[in-house]
Amino acid sequence: MTNQDVFSKDSTYVAHTYNRFPVAVQSGCGATVKDFDGKEYIDFGSGIGANALGFCNEGWVKAVTEQLHLVQHTSNLFYTLPDVLLAERLCEITGYSKVFFCNSGAEANEGAIKLARKYGREKKGDHCHQIITLRNSFHGRTVTTLAATGQDSFHQHFFPFTEGFQYVSINDRQQLSDAIDDSVCGIMVELVQGEGGVTVLDKEYAQYLETLCKENDILLIVDEVQTGIGRTGTFLCCEQYHIRPNIITLAKGLGAGLPIGAILMDKTSGEIFQPGQHGSTFGGNPVVCAGGIEVLKQVCTEGFLSSVSAKAAHLKGLLVTLPGVADVSGLGLMIGVTLKEGLNAREIASRCAENGLLILTAKTKLRIMPPLNITLEEIKRGIDVLCKCLSEQTYS
Ligand SMILES: *Cc1c(COP(=O)(O)O)cnc(C)c1O
Repeated sequence: MTNQDVFSKDSTYVAHTYNRFPVAVQSGCGATVKDFDGKEYIDFGSGIGANALGFCNEGWVKAVTEQLHLVQHTSNLFYTLPDVLLAERLCEITGYSKVFFCNSGAEANEGAIKLARKYGREKKGDHCHQIITLRNSFHGRTVTTLAATGQDSFHQHFFPFTEGFQYVSINDRQQLSDAIDDSVCGIMVELVQGEGGVTVLDKEYAQYLETLCKENDILLIVDEVQTGIGRTGTFLCCEQYHIRPNIITLAKGLGAGLPIGAILMDKTSGEIFQPGQHGSTFGGNPVVCAGGIEVLKQVCTEGFLSSVSAKAAHLKGLLVTLPGVADVSGLGLMIGVTLKEGLNAREIASRCAENGLLILTAKTKLRIMPPLNITLEEIKRGIDVLCKCLSEQTYS
């Protein structure tokens, strides 16, 4: 098998929904991967933040394979141990009351939207079903989470979208308070908008959001699908904002590369769903949850989260010195790089792939989200490639 063999089968048989880079990943270790032609890459994208522990992390592989030899799936008609243990650990770590498991970020957000709607209806009546989200947000690809996504470019082709979403501009308090009335049951935000361009919410704005929600008995939903599980240097990004949303959604990093989503619920939101009102065939899958328990174990090891912050500071320090870099944004190891005029992020990312670095983009920025345990050596190798590609573009 060569890369080309994989590309041509993909082109023939796989639906053309992705704009892929010409790299067929064959194997990996840590933040280093190899393609089918034997070429090596440093991974600054970790499968869009999902491979939190890098490729083939020893403890995680052990946890997953041990569980595979016991039980791989039962459906939620029965109990399994990894499911309840992962829920217990998540509650212990975060102080939340209940967890619902599903398979993806979009599915977690769908569940959160259902929670807010049911809550609004029971508290205030049928008319209370509106959910406010932010412009430039990203909440998923289902028809409802596309509607929740505050970007017109996502509201095409698939009409009619789910009703009941309103969008306000990020960090604008007036717009937000003007949008609040008794038809609003929930507000859903990302604290750092990932796909939208690695834009960080102001602290005061986030705290204002929390206050408004409390005063008006509206559920605050924070989408931590990308920011959660240590990505920003704290276990939850909310901790840095000193806010306590009613609902937090998780996915990406929690599975370390296997599909999982989770809804964390506080005392109020934890009592909304009754048996039969929500579910998922694979939700709480024992193999995925066994891996998730290992993710929490490693991320909560003394010194792990502070090393995420230290590596983030180190990386940002290197990035600002590179040619072609105008600005660096983000929190922790969720980093956006604004390029100087004339430089195209997608083109630079393609050049990087050719030269041995996998890197993401977000709108017009480069986006860097390496495995949380990337080594300093791997950071250096990645930065060297990026520097080379930026230099060529800047001076050619
Ligand atoms: C990736 C992402 C989603 C969607 O997650 P999927 O697992 O792809 O469904 C939702 N919200 C945010 C903030 C994301 O980054």
